[in-house]
Amino acid sequence: MVAEILNVGSEILIGDILNTNARYLSLKLSEFGLDVYCHTSVGDNLKRIKEAIKKALERCDILFITGGLGPTKDDVTKEAVADFFSKDLVEDLEIKKNIEEKFNLTKTKITNNNYKQCLIIEDAKVFKNRKGTAPALLVEHKRKKIFLLPGPPEEVRDIFENEISSYLKDLAGFLIISKNVNVYGLTESGVDELVADILEYENPTVGIYAKHGEVRLRITAKAKTEEECKTLIKDVFLKIKQRIGRFVYGFNTNMQAALVEAFKLKEKTLAVAESCTGGLISSKIVGVSGSSEIFKLGAVCYSNHAKTKILNVREESLNKFGAVSAIVAKEMAYGARKVSNADIAISTTGIAGPNGGTEEKPVGLVYVGISTEKETRAFKLFLSKNEKDERNTIRNLAALFAMNKARVEVLKF
Ligand code: ATP
Ligand code: MG
Repeated sequence: MVAEILNVGSEILIGDILNTNARYLSLKLSEFGLDVYCHTSVGDNLKRIKEAIKKALERCDILFITGGLGPTKDDVTKEAVADFFSKDLVEDLEIKKNIEEKFNLTKTKITNNNYKQCLIIEDAKVFKNRKGTAPALLVEHKRKKIFLLPGPPEEVRDIFENEISSYLKDLAGFLIISKNVNVYGLTESGVDELVADILEYENPTVGIYAKHGEVRLRITAKAKTEEECKTLIKDVFLKIKQRIGRFVYGFNTNMQAALVEAFKLKEKTLAVAESCTGGLISSKIVGVSGSSEIFKLGAVCYSNHAKTKILNVREESLNKFGAVSAIVAKEMAYGARKVSNADIAISTTGIAGPNGGTEEKPVGLVYVGISTEKETRAFKLFLSKNEKDERNTIRNLAALFAMNKARVEVLKF
Protein backbone atom coordinates (compact mmCIF):
# COMPACT_ATOMS: atom_id res chain seq x y z
CA MET A 1 0.00 0.00 0.00
CA VAL A 2 1.20 3.49 -0.81
CA ALA A 3 1.21 6.24 1.81
CA GLU A 4 1.96 9.91 1.59
CA ILE A 5 2.72 12.62 4.07
CA LEU A 6 1.39 16.16 3.84
CA ASN A 7 2.79 18.63 6.37
CA VAL A 8 0.81 21.80 6.85
CA GLY A 9 2.53 24.86 8.28
CA SER A 10 3.87 28.08 6.85
CA GLU A 11 6.79 27.84 9.34
CA ILE A 12 8.06 24.83 7.40
CA LEU A 13 8.02 26.71 4.11
CA ILE A 14 9.85 29.76 5.40
CA GLY A 15 12.52 27.56 6.93
CA ASP A 16 11.62 28.45 10.50
CA ILE A 17 11.25 24.84 11.64
CA LEU A 18 12.63 21.54 10.48
CA ASN A 19 10.01 19.12 9.21
CA THR A 20 10.70 16.39 11.74
CA ASN A 21 7.13 15.08 11.53
CA ALA A 22 7.74 13.89 7.96
CA ARG A 23 10.91 12.12 9.01
CA TYR A 24 9.25 10.47 12.00
CA LEU A 25 6.20 9.32 10.06
CA SER A 26 8.28 8.00 7.16
CA LEU A 27 10.36 5.93 9.54
CA LYS A 28 7.28 4.59 11.29
CA LEU A 29 5.25 3.87 8.17
CA SER A 30 8.00 1.73 6.72
CA GLU A 31 7.63 -0.48 9.80
CA PHE A 32 4.14 -1.31 8.64
CA GLY A 33 5.21 -2.11 5.12
CA LEU A 34 3.74 1.13 3.78
CA ASP A 35 5.66 2.65 0.87
CA VAL A 36 6.10 6.39 1.14
CA TYR A 37 6.79 7.91 -2.26
CA CYS A 38 6.13 11.56 -1.61
CA HIS A 39 6.34 14.26 1.08
CA THR A 40 4.56 17.55 0.52
CA SER A 41 4.67 20.71 2.61
CA VAL A 42 2.06 23.38 2.27
CA GLY A 43 1.30 26.66 4.07
CA ASP A 44 -1.68 27.34 6.32
CA ASN A 45 -3.95 28.17 3.43
CA LEU A 46 -7.30 26.47 2.84
CA LYS A 47 -7.19 26.53 -0.94
CA ARG A 48 -3.63 25.25 -1.21
CA ILE A 49 -4.21 22.53 1.39
CA LYS A 50 -7.18 21.28 -0.65
CA GLU A 51 -5.10 21.27 -3.83
CA ALA A 52 -2.35 19.32 -2.08
CA ILE A 53 -4.88 16.76 -0.77
CA LYS A 54 -6.30 16.31 -4.27
CA LYS A 55 -2.89 15.65 -5.79
CA ALA A 56 -1.80 13.34 -2.97
CA LEU A 57 -4.94 11.23 -3.18
CA GLU A 58 -4.32 10.67 -6.89
CA ARG A 59 -1.06 8.93 -5.89
CA CYS A 60 -1.65 7.19 -2.57
CA ASP A 61 -4.01 4.96 -0.57
CA ILE A 62 -3.32 6.47 2.83
CA LEU A 63 -2.57 10.12 3.45
CA PHE A 64 -1.12 11.42 6.70
CA ILE A 65 -1.61 15.14 7.27
CA THR A 66 0.08 16.93 10.16
CA GLY A 67 -0.42 20.46 11.52
CA GLY A 68 -3.12 23.04 11.55
CA LEU A 69 -5.50 21.39 14.01
CA GLY A 70 -5.08 24.08 16.66
CA PRO A 71 -7.59 26.63 17.89
CA THR A 72 -6.37 29.70 16.02
CA LYS A 73 -7.64 31.23 12.77
CA ASP A 74 -4.65 30.06 10.76
CA ASP A 75 -5.32 26.44 11.70
CA VAL A 76 -7.52 25.32 8.82
CA THR A 77 -6.58 21.70 8.05
CA LYS A 78 -9.82 20.23 9.42
CA GLU A 79 -11.86 22.76 7.49
CA ALA A 80 -9.91 22.00 4.30
CA VAL A 81 -10.47 18.24 4.59
CA ALA A 82 -14.17 18.66 5.45
CA ASP A 83 -14.58 21.01 2.53
CA PHE A 84 -12.71 18.69 0.18
CA PHE A 85 -15.03 15.75 0.96
CA SER A 86 -18.12 18.01 1.34
CA LYS A 87 -18.54 16.90 4.93
CA ASP A 88 -19.79 18.88 7.91
CA LEU A 89 -17.95 19.72 11.08
CA VAL A 90 -19.86 18.50 14.13
CA GLU A 91 -19.33 18.99 17.84
CA ASP A 92 -17.93 16.03 19.77
CA LEU A 93 -19.03 16.14 23.40
CA GLU A 94 -16.34 13.84 24.69
CA ILE A 95 -13.59 16.01 23.20
CA LYS A 96 -15.31 19.05 24.71
CA LYS A 97 -15.25 17.39 28.13
CA ASN A 98 -11.54 16.48 27.73
CA ILE A 99 -10.60 20.02 26.75
CA GLU A 100 -12.51 21.50 29.71
CA GLU A 101 -10.79 19.05 32.07
CA LYS A 102 -7.34 19.88 30.67
CA PHE A 103 -7.92 23.62 31.10
CA ASN A 104 -9.31 23.10 34.64
CA LEU A 105 -6.19 21.19 35.57
CA THR A 106 -3.95 24.14 34.79
CA LYS A 107 -6.55 26.69 35.95
CA THR A 108 -6.45 28.32 32.53
CA LYS A 109 -9.44 30.17 31.14
CA ILE A 110 -10.96 28.59 28.03
CA THR A 111 -11.31 31.03 25.21
CA ASN A 112 -14.01 30.73 22.57
CA ASN A 113 -11.62 29.60 19.86
CA ASN A 114 -10.61 26.62 22.01
CA TYR A 115 -14.10 25.25 21.38
CA LYS A 116 -13.16 25.07 17.70
CA GLN A 117 -11.17 21.99 18.66
CA CYS A 118 -14.35 20.21 19.77
CA LEU A 119 -15.44 20.07 16.16
CA ILE A 120 -14.70 16.94 14.20
CA ILE A 121 -15.36 15.96 10.62
CA GLU A 122 -18.63 13.99 10.51
CA ASP A 123 -18.15 10.17 10.54
CA ALA A 124 -14.45 10.54 11.34
CA LYS A 125 -12.78 8.10 13.69
CA VAL A 126 -11.24 9.91 16.66
CA PHE A 127 -7.82 9.03 18.13
CA LYS A 128 -7.02 10.34 21.60
CA ASN A 129 -4.35 13.00 22.06
CA ARG A 130 -2.88 12.66 25.55
CA LYS A 131 -0.29 15.38 25.06
CA GLY A 132 -2.48 18.13 23.66
CA THR A 133 -6.03 19.20 23.01
CA ALA A 134 -6.55 18.42 19.32
CA PRO A 135 -7.37 14.74 18.76
CA ALA A 136 -6.28 12.99 15.58
CA LEU A 137 -8.94 12.03 13.06
CA LEU A 138 -9.34 9.38 10.39
CA VAL A 139 -11.60 10.12 7.45
CA GLU A 140 -12.39 7.29 5.05
CA HIS A 141 -13.62 7.99 1.58
CA LYS A 142 -13.84 5.64 -1.41
CA ARG A 143 -11.15 3.24 -0.13
CA LYS A 144 -8.83 6.12 0.69
CA LYS A 145 -7.81 6.85 4.26
CA ILE A 146 -6.84 10.29 5.46
CA PHE A 147 -5.29 10.72 8.88
CA LEU A 148 -5.25 14.20 10.41
CA LEU A 149 -2.64 14.70 13.10
CA PRO A 150 -1.71 17.81 15.08
CA GLY A 151 1.56 19.68 14.40
CA PRO A 152 3.59 19.44 17.62
CA PRO A 153 6.01 16.52 17.20
CA GLU A 154 5.55 15.12 20.71
CA GLU A 155 1.80 14.91 20.07
CA VAL A 156 2.37 13.19 16.72
CA ARG A 157 4.64 10.63 18.36
CA ASP A 158 2.30 9.95 21.24
CA ILE A 159 -0.79 9.53 19.08
CA PHE A 160 1.07 7.37 16.58
CA GLU A 161 2.58 5.07 19.17
CA ASN A 162 -0.49 4.71 21.35
CA GLU A 163 -3.33 4.85 18.86
CA ILE A 164 -2.49 4.66 15.18
CA SER A 165 0.16 1.93 15.23
CA SER A 166 -2.26 -0.77 16.42
CA TYR A 167 -4.72 0.34 13.74
CA LEU A 168 -2.04 0.03 11.04
CA LYS A 169 -0.84 -3.29 12.37
CA ASP A 170 -4.33 -4.76 11.94
CA LEU A 171 -4.53 -3.22 8.50
CA ALA A 172 -1.21 -4.61 7.29
CA GLY A 173 -1.55 -8.03 8.93
CA PHE A 174 2.16 -7.96 9.71
CA LEU A 175 4.71 -5.82 11.41
CA ILE A 176 8.13 -4.57 10.41
CA ILE A 177 10.53 -3.75 13.23
CA SER A 178 14.04 -2.34 12.92
CA LYS A 179 16.82 -2.18 15.48
CA ASN A 180 20.37 -0.89 15.29
CA VAL A 181 23.57 -2.62 16.27
CA ASN A 182 26.07 0.04 17.33
CA VAL A 183 29.65 -0.51 16.19
CA TYR A 184 32.71 1.56 17.04
CA GLY A 185 36.32 1.07 15.99
CA LEU A 186 35.79 -0.41 12.54
CA THR A 187 35.22 1.39 9.25
CA GLU A 188 32.13 0.76 7.15
CA SER A 189 34.12 -1.32 4.69
CA GLY A 190 35.77 -3.17 7.57
CA VAL A 191 32.37 -4.17 8.93
CA ASP A 192 31.13 -4.97 5.44
CA GLU A 193 33.97 -7.41 4.91
CA LEU A 194 33.35 -9.22 8.18
CA VAL A 195 29.58 -9.62 7.87
CA ALA A 196 29.18 -9.74 4.07
CA ASP A 197 27.07 -12.93 4.08
CA ILE A 198 24.76 -11.58 6.81
CA LEU A 199 24.09 -8.53 4.65
CA GLU A 200 22.54 -10.91 2.09
CA TYR A 201 19.80 -12.19 4.46
CA GLU A 202 16.20 -11.68 3.40
CA ASN A 203 14.31 -11.71 6.70
CA PRO A 204 15.58 -10.02 8.69
CA THR A 205 17.44 -7.79 6.30
CA VAL A 206 20.61 -6.10 7.50
CA GLY A 207 21.76 -2.71 6.23
CA ILE A 208 25.01 -0.98 6.99
CA TYR A 209 25.37 2.75 7.65
CA ALA A 210 28.34 4.89 8.64
CA LYS A 211 27.54 7.98 10.67
CA HIS A 212 29.66 10.45 12.62
CA GLY A 213 32.57 8.12 13.26
CA GLU A 214 30.47 5.06 14.02
CA VAL A 215 28.94 2.27 12.00
CA ARG A 216 25.39 1.04 12.44
CA LEU A 217 23.95 -2.23 11.30
CA ARG A 218 20.21 -1.92 10.95
CA ILE A 219 18.35 -5.21 11.36
CA THR A 220 14.82 -5.17 9.98
CA ALA A 221 12.45 -8.07 10.60
CA LYS A 222 9.01 -8.71 9.17
CA ALA A 223 6.56 -10.99 11.01
CA LYS A 224 3.00 -11.30 12.28
CA THR A 225 3.76 -10.40 15.87
CA GLU A 226 6.21 -8.23 17.77
CA GLU A 227 7.52 -11.33 19.53
CA GLU A 228 8.36 -13.06 16.24
CA CYS A 229 10.10 -9.91 14.98
CA LYS A 230 12.13 -9.66 18.16
CA THR A 231 13.24 -13.30 17.95
CA LEU A 232 14.31 -12.88 14.33
CA ILE A 233 16.28 -9.76 15.23
CA LYS A 234 17.89 -11.33 18.27
CA ASP A 235 19.16 -14.33 16.29
CA VAL A 236 20.89 -12.10 13.76
CA PHE A 237 22.19 -9.79 16.46
CA LEU A 238 23.90 -12.75 18.16
CA LYS A 239 25.46 -13.80 14.84
CA ILE A 240 26.81 -10.30 14.30
CA LYS A 241 28.17 -10.27 17.84
CA GLN A 242 29.97 -13.55 17.23
CA ARG A 243 31.75 -11.98 14.27
CA ILE A 244 32.57 -8.48 15.44
CA GLY A 245 31.62 -8.59 19.13
CA ARG A 246 34.69 -6.68 20.24
CA PHE A 247 33.50 -3.66 18.28
CA VAL A 248 29.82 -3.88 19.12
CA TYR A 249 29.13 -1.46 21.93
CA GLY A 250 25.39 -1.72 22.06
CA PHE A 251 22.01 -2.47 20.66
CA ASN A 252 19.74 0.42 19.67
CA THR A 253 21.66 2.85 21.81
CA ASN A 254 24.32 5.55 21.55
CA MET A 255 27.82 5.88 22.99
CA GLN A 256 26.91 8.04 25.97
CA ALA A 257 24.04 5.76 27.01
CA ALA A 258 26.27 2.69 26.61
CA LEU A 259 28.92 4.41 28.73
CA VAL A 260 26.48 5.26 31.53
CA GLU A 261 25.13 1.70 31.47
CA ALA A 262 28.63 0.22 31.71
CA PHE A 263 29.55 2.45 34.66
CA LYS A 264 26.29 1.57 36.40
CA LEU A 265 26.88 -2.11 35.83
CA LYS A 266 30.31 -1.90 37.45
CA GLU A 267 29.17 0.63 40.06
CA LYS A 268 32.01 2.99 39.18
CA THR A 269 32.18 6.75 38.73
CA LEU A 270 33.56 9.04 36.03
CA ALA A 271 35.13 12.48 35.81
CA VAL A 272 35.80 14.39 32.60
CA ALA A 273 38.33 17.18 31.99
CA GLU A 274 37.78 18.84 28.65
CA SER A 275 39.77 21.32 26.64
CA CYS A 276 39.08 21.05 22.90
CA THR A 277 35.74 19.26 23.35
CA GLY A 278 34.61 22.16 25.54
CA GLY A 279 31.92 20.41 27.58
CA LEU A 280 30.64 18.24 24.76
CA ILE A 281 31.39 14.99 26.56
CA SER A 282 29.87 16.20 29.81
CA SER A 283 26.79 17.46 28.03
CA LYS A 284 26.30 14.16 26.21
CA ILE A 285 26.62 12.19 29.44
CA VAL A 286 24.30 14.47 31.39
CA GLY A 287 21.77 14.00 28.58
CA VAL A 288 21.40 10.37 29.63
CA SER A 289 18.82 10.00 32.36
CA GLY A 290 20.28 8.45 35.50
CA SER A 291 23.80 9.71 34.74
CA SER A 292 23.99 11.38 38.17
CA GLU A 293 24.72 7.94 39.63
CA ILE A 294 28.02 7.72 37.78
CA PHE A 295 29.07 11.22 36.72
CA LYS A 296 31.12 13.10 39.30
CA LEU A 297 32.77 15.99 37.52
CA GLY A 298 32.81 17.72 34.17
CA ALA A 299 35.43 20.47 33.98
CA VAL A 300 36.03 22.61 30.92
CA CYS A 301 39.57 23.90 31.38
CA TYR A 302 40.32 25.80 28.24
CA SER A 303 43.10 28.09 29.39
CA ASN A 304 46.47 27.02 30.76
CA HIS A 305 45.60 28.89 33.93
CA ALA A 306 42.46 26.78 34.42
CA LYS A 307 44.40 23.62 33.69
CA THR A 308 46.93 24.37 36.41
CA LYS A 309 44.53 25.85 38.98
CA ILE A 310 41.69 23.35 38.69
CA LEU A 311 43.33 20.17 37.44
CA ASN A 312 46.79 20.65 38.91
CA VAL A 313 48.48 20.33 35.54
CA ARG A 314 52.15 21.30 36.05
CA GLU A 315 53.22 24.59 34.56
CA GLU A 316 56.44 22.91 33.58
CA SER A 317 54.54 20.42 31.40
CA LEU A 318 52.61 23.20 29.70
CA ASN A 319 55.76 25.22 29.03
CA LYS A 320 57.84 22.34 27.85
CA PHE A 321 55.33 20.33 25.79
CA GLY A 322 52.43 22.74 25.18
CA ALA A 323 48.77 22.33 26.14
CA VAL A 324 48.21 19.91 23.27
CA SER A 325 50.49 17.10 24.38
CA ALA A 326 50.30 13.60 25.76
CA ILE A 327 51.70 14.65 29.11
CA VAL A 328 49.13 17.41 29.58
CA ALA A 329 46.29 15.06 28.57
CA LYS A 330 47.54 12.61 31.18
CA GLU A 331 47.90 15.26 33.88
CA MET A 332 44.41 16.59 33.10
CA ALA A 333 42.88 13.14 33.49
CA TYR A 334 44.90 12.40 36.59
CA GLY A 335 43.97 15.76 38.13
CA ALA A 336 40.27 15.32 37.34
CA ARG A 337 40.28 11.89 38.95
CA LYS A 338 42.06 13.13 42.05
CA VAL A 339 39.97 16.24 42.56
CA SER A 340 36.70 14.35 42.09
CA ASN A 341 37.57 11.01 43.66
CA ALA A 342 36.12 9.27 40.62
CA ASP A 343 37.22 5.77 39.64
CA ILE A 344 38.03 6.77 36.06
CA ALA A 345 38.74 10.13 34.47
CA ILE A 346 39.13 11.04 30.83
CA SER A 347 40.47 14.20 29.24
CA THR A 348 40.77 15.86 25.86
CA THR A 349 43.20 18.44 24.57
CA GLY A 350 43.66 19.19 20.91
CA ILE A 351 43.49 21.53 17.97
CA ALA A 352 39.97 21.65 16.55
CA GLY A 353 40.85 24.28 13.95
CA PRO A 354 40.44 25.89 11.55
CA ASN A 355 43.22 28.04 13.05
CA GLY A 356 45.99 27.22 15.46
CA GLY A 357 47.57 24.30 13.62
CA THR A 358 51.32 24.07 12.94
CA GLU A 359 53.39 21.58 11.03
CA GLU A 360 54.29 19.84 14.24
CA LYS A 361 50.81 20.07 15.72
CA PRO A 362 48.30 20.13 12.86
CA VAL A 363 44.57 20.81 13.04
CA GLY A 364 42.88 17.60 14.12
CA LEU A 365 45.63 16.55 16.50
CA VAL A 366 43.91 15.49 19.73
CA TYR A 367 45.25 13.77 22.81
CA VAL A 368 42.81 11.80 24.93
CA GLY A 369 43.90 10.98 28.45
CA ILE A 370 42.52 8.29 30.71
CA SER A 371 43.35 7.77 34.34
CA THR A 372 42.51 4.98 36.76
CA GLU A 373 43.99 4.05 40.12
CA LYS A 374 46.27 1.62 38.27
CA GLU A 375 47.59 3.79 35.47
CA THR A 376 47.29 6.97 33.46
CA ARG A 377 47.67 6.86 29.69
CA ALA A 378 47.22 9.10 26.66
CA PHE A 379 46.24 8.40 23.06
CA LYS A 380 47.27 10.48 20.09
CA LEU A 381 44.65 10.96 17.38
CA PHE A 382 44.70 12.62 13.99
CA LEU A 383 41.08 13.51 13.29
CA SER A 384 41.23 15.97 10.42
CA LYS A 385 40.24 14.96 6.92
CA ASN A 386 41.25 18.36 5.60
CA GLU A 387 37.65 19.28 5.04
CA LYS A 388 35.97 22.65 5.43
CA ASP A 389 34.12 23.48 8.65
CA GLU A 390 35.31 20.38 10.43
CA ARG A 391 35.81 21.98 13.86
CA ASN A 392 32.73 20.36 15.34
CA THR A 393 33.35 17.09 13.56
CA ILE A 394 36.79 16.93 15.19
CA ARG A 395 35.27 17.74 18.60
CA ASN A 396 32.61 15.06 18.13
CA LEU A 397 35.08 12.41 17.02
CA ALA A 398 37.33 13.18 19.98
CA ALA A 399 34.35 12.97 22.37
CA LEU A 400 33.32 9.64 20.89
CA PHE A 401 36.81 8.20 21.19
CA ALA A 402 37.18 9.34 24.80
CA MET A 403 33.78 8.02 25.83
CA ASN A 404 34.50 4.67 24.23
CA LYS A 405 37.85 4.46 26.05
CA ALA A 406 36.12 5.08 29.37
CA ARG A 407 33.46 2.49 28.57
CA VAL A 408 36.00 -0.17 27.62
CA GLU A 409 38.11 0.64 30.67
CA VAL A 410 35.27 0.36 33.16
CA LEU A 411 34.25 -3.00 31.77
CA LYS A 412 37.70 -4.31 32.79
CA PHE A 413 36.88 -3.78 36.48
P1 ATP B 1 -1.28 23.99 17.93
O1 ATP B 1 -2.47 23.69 18.76
O2 ATP B 1 0.01 23.94 18.72
O3 ATP B 1 -1.43 25.22 17.09
P2 ATP B 1 -1.49 22.55 15.44
O4 ATP B 1 -2.01 21.17 15.22
O5 ATP B 1 -2.30 23.66 14.89
O6 ATP B 1 -1.14 22.71 16.96
P3 ATP B 1 0.64 23.77 14.07
O7 ATP B 1 0.09 25.08 14.50
O8 ATP B 1 0.67 23.46 12.63
O9 ATP B 1 -0.08 22.59 14.79
O10 ATP B 1 2.08 23.56 14.67
C1 ATP B 1 2.34 23.77 16.03
C2 ATP B 1 3.82 23.68 16.26
O11 ATP B 1 4.25 22.35 16.06
C3 ATP B 1 4.68 24.49 15.29
O12 ATP B 1 4.88 25.78 15.69
C4 ATP B 1 5.96 23.72 15.27
O13 ATP B 1 6.75 24.08 16.37
C5 ATP B 1 5.50 22.29 15.42
N1 ATP B 1 5.34 21.65 14.11
C6 ATP B 1 4.31 21.75 13.26
N2 ATP B 1 4.50 21.03 12.16
C7 ATP B 1 5.70 20.45 12.28
C8 ATP B 1 6.48 19.57 11.47
N3 ATP B 1 6.03 19.13 10.28
N4 ATP B 1 7.67 19.16 11.94
C9 ATP B 1 8.12 19.61 13.14
N5 ATP B 1 7.45 20.43 13.95
C10 ATP B 1 6.25 20.85 13.54
MG1 MG C 1 -1.59 25.84 15.19
